[in-house]
Amino acid sequence: MDLVTELQTIAGNDFVVTRRDLMQQYLLDETPQGVKPVAADNVIVVKPANAGQISAILKLANRTLTPVYPRGGGTSTVGGPIPTKDGIVLSLERLDTIEEIDLENLMIVAESGVTMETLLHDAEAAGLLFPPHPGDEGAQVGGVIACNAGGSRAVKYGIVRNYVKGLEVVLPTGEIVSMGGKLLKNNTGLDLMHLMIGSEGILGIITKAVFRLYPKPAVTAVLLVSFDERHTAVAAVPLVLQAGIIPLAIEYVERDIIEISATHLGLTWPAKSGNAHLIFTVDGGSEDEVYQQCERIAEVCDANGAVDTLFAETKQEQDNILKMRNELYGVLMPQLAESLDLAVPPARVADFLDAVERIATQYGSRIPNYGHAADGNLHPHLMMDLQERGLLWTVKDAIYEEGTRLGGIVTAEHGVGRSRRVYFDRYTDETSKHLMRGIKHLFDPNNILNPDAAIT
Ligand SMILES: Cc1cc2nc3c(=O)[nH]c(=O)nc-3n(C[C@H](O)[C@H](O)[C@H](O)COP(=O)(O)OP(=O)(O)OC[C@H]3O[C@@H](n4cnc5c(N)ncnc54)[C@H](O)[C@@H]3O)c2cc1C
Repeated sequence: MDLVTELQTIAGNDFVVTRRDLMQQYLLDETPQGVKPVAADNVIVVKPANAGQISAILKLANRTLTPVYPRGGGTSTVGGPIPTKDGIVLSLERLDTIEEIDLENLMIVAESGVTMETLLHDAEAAGLLFPPHPGDEGAQVGGVIACNAGGSRAVKYGIVRNYVKGLEVVLPTGEIVSMGGKLLKNNTGLDLMHLMIGSEGILGIITKAVFRLYPKPAVTAVLLVSFDERHTAVAAVPLVLQAGIIPLAIEYVERDIIEISATHLGLTWPAKSGNAHLIFTVDGGSEDEVYQQCERIAEVCDANGAVDTLFAETKQEQDNILKMRNELYGVLMPQLAESLDLAVPPARVADFLDAVERIATQYGSRIPNYGHAADGNLHPHLMMDLQERGLLWTVKDAIYEEGTRLGGIVTAEHGVGRSRRVYFDRYTDETSKHLMRGIKHLFDPNNILNPDAAIT
């Protein structure tokens, strides 16, 4: 039997795609054009229904030494799910069931193909909150775990890793393993579950997850604080935290960029003055509690250089401000060569922004920079003019050099994928890489699962 026939036997004829014109959306992700990997010529897309079928596919792939590329929502910005060698794209889209919302244990059990949109909605409908919120709700449960996604709400609630309590995983060699469970404490042996979180599809295929949920906060509010220049804006962030207020999110944006997003959406950026803005999202048990937090944030910012503070009164105003921020990536995409994802210690954010500005001036470009200010996680956007002038890699080199000099790292939340392997390699010590390669080999002796992604 040939490979296609064997795959059809496992998953069913309707769920094996071999025609190129019917599989285009499985060969792409959200990686910007300057560094987007090119899909291989001979790809088969398979859409299994359950862990048993995935196990059979991986055993077949091992026997035939066929590369397998796990695919979730395809929202990766680093080429993670793109099949760069002839092989199989394994789409998790049919594993789309929320099996249980367990109110007693405050846990949700979801298959890996459930989208963030569905998970957030269903948790909320049950009066509960799944705190992490990566920017694109088309991402799936398996994808956000494989990438250990962050998002804006990490300031108060942390990243995806903090919420994963159990996993079902199919190993590259086909065994189905259950890790963790509905447990808040678990010290049983080495923690394989946490090894899977953030493993970018190279150690196993996540088929099911147990997430911890929290009660939904009664009230949320959005406060937009404006400053004349970036240094003062980001310097206010640690001062707010030191004052004892931990907002849900603190996002940093600059006027010229956010106004492009506003225009694109047919909206108006509501800040009347200032060039550098902090968007605070605050939650709490009552209006009074939230109002007091906003007052305190405004006081701290006013005392430290803010030129304007705007409290979004209505839900519509809140949504509009957050929408203009969330759509930035998509709006800039047509002119975008690459978006970076460095993190520096939070207190060095201003220095990092200054360094990026110096580099932009040196190379005669504009480098839009925005991101999760309180997490020290920023996304400098390198535009197509750099690519066209042959400067993309020179400028990237300079930014990574400055970022790491300030104590930072190559990627905070998007992962290494395919587009950041050079920098992962450059800034990771040999001993760590040796250990990582050893772990990969132990899990995947034939290197069939997402080869050429993440570790070099
Ligand atoms: C507009 C926009 C905003 C974004 N904002 C954020 C943000 O704020 N924070 C953040 O962290 N990220 C953000 N991202 C990045 C992206 O959403 C995340 O990386 C997301 O976690 C990827 O999930 P996915 O299901 O789309 O995975 P995919 O893109 O399909 O795959 C990503 C990686 O995970 C692997 N994978 C997918 N599913 C599985 C599985 N079931 N088992 C094993 N491996 C698997 C793939 O092989 C690949 O290596 C943003 C992306 C966009 C486009």
